[in-house]
Amino acid sequence: MSEKRTEISDLGEFGLIDHLNEKVIIKNSSTVKGIGDDAAVIEAGELVKVVTTDLLVEGVHFDLSYAPLPHLGFKAVAVNVSDVAAMNAVPKQITVSIALSNRFSVEAIDALYEGIHAACEHYGVDLIGGDTTASRSGLVISVTAIGESKPEQVSYRSGAKENDILCVTGDLGAALVGLQILEREKEVFLANPEMKPDLGKYTIVTGRQLKPDARVDIIHELREMEVVPTSMMDISDGLASEIFHICKASGVGATIYEDKLPIDKQTFDTAVELNLDPITCVMNGGEDYELLFTIDQKDFAKLEKHPDIHFIGHITKSEEGKFLVTKSGTAVQIKAQGWKHF
Ligand code: ADP
Ligand code: MG
Repeated sequence: MSEKRTEISDLGEFGLIDHLNEKVIIKNSSTVKGIGDDAAVIEAGELVKVVTTDLLVEGVHFDLSYAPLPHLGFKAVAVNVSDVAAMNAVPKQITVSIALSNRFSVEAIDALYEGIHAACEHYGVDLIGGDTTASRSGLVISVTAIGESKPEQVSYRSGAKENDILCVTGDLGAALVGLQILEREKEVFLANPEMKPDLGKYTIVTGRQLKPDARVDIIHELREMEVVPTSMMDISDGLASEIFHICKASGVGATIYEDKLPIDKQTFDTAVELNLDPITCVMNGGEDYELLFTIDQKDFAKLEKHPDIHFIGHITKSEEGKFLVTKSGTAVQIKAQGWKHF
């Protein structure tokens, strides 16, 4: 009798996480939220702590031929801080673990940590520990971030309700377009090492890919404006994929409008130059690390004038499905493509 073998690709990343979660039984009443959101939530006296971890693997998440080590260190912290912000919590501490080969010098590690320290400064977090080990292949960086919030201020993916307004911060699609430019210039360089890439006109998109900034600023502003999003997550896998997560966790549908989707001019122009559809980049591009959240209609007036929050649509009943209304008025069903790791 042959043993059953199921390919990971049959489940996909999210199917695999659901599969692993099936066997988890929460034993402690202090575990407020376990697997399934941007961060776990743990009771801690008057406050709750949120905890999240992300792994960056050379050759999968970054390519050292174009990612400068300080940027990489910054990004490793930013992507974790982003998941803390996605719970409407304020980041406070991080741990950093690295696996490296003898290909790296002390100077290279110092360059990586230059970025880690810059991010700690930028986000006001303390580096409190980690682990260091050897790697037989590439560089691996794992960061865990801890944040805090009042329990009633935490925003889960599951709180969106019918008629809530869907909001996104900043602009979308830039990180994907930036990655395409970096990959293109790498090919040009490999074919002709004499050629120095001229990336001058692509600094916004390449910068977003190499050194994204988590929107902790928005978390502080929401507090000042006394708005608690009914649901929230960060956009790491692409807007379409994240809308699916919010709709699934909240048991709702959503309608968004193409003409409301925020895209930077450089992202738009570069997408066109690369023969990519700019709206596809906005919907399915990953790694922008902006925030997607929903607010109750009563809070709209408080955020209406904010220059960096865009109102892209609204929440509907689950049976109404998930739709993008194009500029011509056609409703197109949203497909959650996102990034496939397996
Ligand atoms: P994000 O994109 O916000 O970082 P992920 O999609 O990586 O979130 O993870 C979704 C949820 O699944 C989180 O609650 C995360 O902690 C959990 N998770 C991911 N991988 C594992 C794993 N190997 N074991 C247990 N939980 C996991
Ligand atoms: Mg997230």
